[in-house]
Amino acid sequence: MNPTHHTIGPLPEPLSGLRDIALDLAWTWMRDARRLFRSLDPTLWAETRENPVRLLKELPSGRLQECAEDPEFLALLESVRGQMAVLASDDGTWFSVNHPELAGRTVAYFCAEFAVHHSVPIYAGGLGVLAGDHLKCASDLGVPLVAVGLLYRHGYFDQRFDDDGRQVSEDEVFDPSVLPLTRLEAGAGPGLASVRLEGRTVHLSAWEMRVGRTRVFLIDTNLQENAEQDRELTARLYEDGEELRLKQEWILGVGGVRVLRAVGIEPTGWHANEGHAAFMMLERARELVERGSSLDEAVREVRSRSVFTTHTPVAAGHDDFHLDQIQSILDPVWEELGVDAAGFMRLGKAPGDDDDVFHMTAAAIRMSSRINGVSAQHGEVSRRIWQGLWPDKAPDDVPIGHVTNGVHRWTWMASRIQCMLDEELGAGWEARVQDPALWDRVLSIPDERVWQVHLGLKRHSAGFLREQARVRWRDQWTDAKHFAAAGPLLDPEVLTLGFARRFTSYKRADLLLRDEERLRRLLTDPHRPVQLIYAGKAHPADDEGQRILERIHQLAWDPRNEGRVAFVEDYDMHLARALFQGVDVWLNLPRAPMEASGTSGMKAALNMVPQLGTHDGWWAEGFDGENGWIIPIAADLDDPDEEDWEHVFRILEDQVVPLYHDRNGNGVPVGWARRMKRALWVAGRDFTADRMLRDYVASYYAPALSPEGIPEDGGAPTA
Ligand SMILES: *Cc1c(COP(=O)(O)O)cnc(C)c1O
Repeated sequence: MNPTHHTIGPLPEPLSGLRDIALDLAWTWMRDARRLFRSLDPTLWAETRENPVRLLKELPSGRLQECAEDPEFLALLESVRGQMAVLASDDGTWFSVNHPELAGRTVAYFCAEFAVHHSVPIYAGGLGVLAGDHLKCASDLGVPLVAVGLLYRHGYFDQRFDDDGRQVSEDEVFDPSVLPLTRLEAGAGPGLASVRLEGRTVHLSAWEMRVGRTRVFLIDTNLQENAEQDRELTARLYEDGEELRLKQEWILGVGGVRVLRAVGIEPTGWHANEGHAAFMMLERARELVERGSSLDEAVREVRSRSVFTTHTPVAAGHDDFHLDQIQSILDPVWEELGVDAAGFMRLGKAPGDDDDVFHMTAAAIRMSSRINGVSAQHGEVSRRIWQGLWPDKAPDDVPIGHVTNGVHRWTWMASRIQCMLDEELGAGWEARVQDPALWDRVLSIPDERVWQVHLGLKRHSAGFLREQARVRWRDQWTDAKHFAAAGPLLDPEVLTLGFARRFTSYKRADLLLRDEERLRRLLTDPHRPVQLIYAGKAHPADDEGQRILERIHQLAWDPRNEGRVAFVEDYDMHLARALFQGVDVWLNLPRAPMEASGTSGMKAALNMVPQLGTHDGWWAEGFDGENGWIIPIAADLDDPDEEDWEHVFRILEDQVVPLYHDRNGNGVPVGWARRMKRALWVAGRDFTADRMLRDYVASYYAPALSPEGIPEDGGAPTA
């Protein structure tokens, strides 16, 4: 078996260290490492979409030789190697200093998707990015975490549009030879572990992805020894079809535990990030039953080591499976648990559901002692949704807490802003980010400075969009109108609003389109025009999302909108970074209270871009009156769209546009710059993954890792 995926060829001796750097995704958040790769060949770096494995593969050997003799390059390489070497040890990390008593213990973190870098396209959206940021920050803080996921060889999907503006989905381009993954060697058997599905044995192999101190194991069923149809089980993420979902989740949960055992990792604490991973708890219970426990005892034991995070109040975000499906796909699993089918189904029974439905979130809640939502408001909503599991408790007493999401600062904050902070906050500020007083100093950065940095970023992003459109026009588009819609017409000097996320109906990408005339007046004002830039994929099975995409294309193509609307194709982390850095206002318009947290507004804010958002998710606690604008809760919660729409327009027309154009003698919008700094101040201090991880450690991981496990303080579900 080929032990590695990537095919980086031989490098000149002095540059041999580049290989290890390229194969550890920690490079993605190291400014010097990014600079190092870019300096090898800035054009190829952009063309490979910042994929160092591809860069090293494709770089002409002459250029490599040149760098091998360039003292400046070698000095930078040495410095990056030094920064990487620090990650080989846990000495002196925040975790090792604060929790020496937990040394040597590990948390296993299971998730259906991970977004660490766009070159490993095994994610669809917010959940994956959040999970990726969690891993990166675990590395930064030295939190002992290993992660388990699936390797989707065809990714999610690539987004294209036909000449009528209809979304066409294609398999994501996925070249295994340019992935920073290492295949784990199996022992004697065909894979590392196996599961049973439909009466067949499915062998599992695994790939390791390095994210600094954090190891990620990605399971893959594409093994010769597997039946043809089973080799495709892990091919695509969130493919339609409940049976496939059940199989994938079985592979993730049950297979994931077995793979960890096979590679000799013995976690103490276990974290299921969203209900997709709930079978991980079942497998641990099965292991205990096999060793002689009753199922009740096993569940009690599993609970004391398990943490579960729920990520959405939207019903479609929670999987459930019918007894018939379970019976036909899984061997009679209940026999191995020492119960009958009814006893098994009770573990996954959700309040109000029939007895023959196994609900993954309900199961995860029953098998975890610590459960959380992802913002204060989502915690409250979740307590109400799941109160039926504790019929004797008032909603406020339901033991579901919250940890508000945060984003990985070093991934999402533009290098230019980090450079500005080097000067404004003093060298070494990166080591003091946990000190709130550090962030206070952001507020006194000169307005002129803030504004110039922002304009530089806007121009840079506009250039990026133009180049991306040019390449797509060259390679793919048959009609020039796609080019017109893709951003080249945007003017970096004009007030620009950004909206990018999954196109699912509750996120309301079409809210501004309720009255196209009013929108047009806003966009085409001759003196104070506004630009609108959209990006996002709709799930191929989501018809309403597709219709919205089509409408936005019509809007962008309509000459009456004067090129002030753009839709940028194929939203991913790479494009997201350009958008967070390159717009003036971030729009976030979910129908409250459907957005559990939302994180894109935090990333925008780390780039000094204030958010205009509904009173929902993180914004309900993150808005402080001056770091953006908030749409108040609608009086009619059953039909809030009209009210919210009126509010957005009034805020845009009466506040956003005038403030943006209120300039001092040097052309600096002073009031606006203040809001930008305020956005950075709040997000940098309170909405980073660093704060999030420390919250998880304090209330979730430390108890789960302690010798006695998590105390049953909240009480297990009684229904
Ligand atoms: C942050 C992010 C998301 C999630 O954005 P929300 O505001 O939570 O909807 C989705 N996709 C990408 C690429 C992101 O970077």
